[in-house]
Amino acid sequence: MYKGKILLVEDDKLQAQTTRDYLESIGYDVKWAENGKTALKIAKTQPIDIILLDIILPDINGYELCRWLKLNQDTKSIPIIMLTVKDSTMNKVEGLQAGADDYLAKPYHETELNARIYASLRTKSLQDELKEKNRQLEEILAKVEILAITDPLTLIPNRRHFEVTIEKEFNKTVRYKTPTSCIMIDIDHFKSINDEYGHRVGDIVLKEMANLIKNCIRKVDTVARWGGEEFVILLPGITKEKAYNAALRIRESLQKYKFSDIHKPITISIGISSIPNPSIDSSEKLIDAADNALYEAKAKGRDRIETI
Ligand code: GH3
Ligand code: MG
Ligand code: MG
Ligand code: MG
Repeated sequence: MYKGKILLVEDDKLQAQTTRDYLESIGYDVKWAENGKTALKIAKTQPIDIILLDIILPDINGYELCRWLKLNQDTKSIPIIMLTVKDSTMNKVEGLQAGADDYLAKPYHETELNARIYASLRTKSLQDELKEKNRQLEEILAKVEILAITDPLTLIPNRRHFEVTIEKEFNKTVRYKTPTSCIMIDIDHFKSINDEYGHRVGDIVLKEMANLIKNCIRKVDTVARWGGEEFVILLPGITKEKAYNAALRIRESLQKYKFSDIHKPITISIGISSIPNPSIDSSEKLIDAADNALYEAKAKGRDRIETI
């Protein structure tokens, strides 16, 4: 049964041969390197599961090599067992300080060698498993975070996320004395679309409307679903006049747009609020003002834009 690939770094040919024969007899694939340079090359280019590392090598000191392997991105997770001189505490300490995972005194007993390798591989596999679990957990957390700020129907940001975003932007705007605008949009007579075509078609209209608005604004703007058939946009750095032009662009785009399954024109009412404005001193008031302007647009007959 194949157990794994071992890199044996040993300059003593006889010792290397004996160890290799034993390890192969118990199911390991063994790569032998008789100096540090060859060992580095193999460790970097081949899938090695564990390294048995002699201390005295012809070209480089085993501790140095160990340190290097533990610093290198490609090799740092490979367990290393240092082959130390019997009973030399200094040897063992130095090996562990260099980053070795374990040590084994020479001449070693074959069964002890086997047990040490087995233990190191088991630790490594547990660490790998833990790493993979952590990665999966992070992936799930990232997804949950996105879900928490996204409207499930339209896949644009939800109201909660918008409130957080606009508050941050409002504070920045006050600090740097730059303008900012907020646009509130409500679909006219949306209830009649639902009544006439069904709720499912109504949902499709909402999705398409979200995309249409998204395509009319900049990357730095934020469009969110405010409520049922209401959308809200934050336009950082944009004056009232420019926000008005943005609203006109959205209306124009809507006039040209062909909704799937809908054969009559859909219109929207738009309210715009902007700062600087002496009576708007919070992000909530900025939103309320856009909402009031929208209410006025509705009251004045719909399919129009009002500003505050
Ligand atoms: P107004 O011009 O005054 O805005 O009229 P309206 O019909 O658009 O406004 P009203 O507030 O009376 O109705 C909004 C409708 O939007 C009612 C509700 O069923 C519908 N609606 C809210 N959320 C959804 C949704 O997620 N999907 C669908 N299909 N309809 C929704
Ligand atoms: Mg040696
Ligand atoms: Mg409406
Ligand atoms: Mg509404």
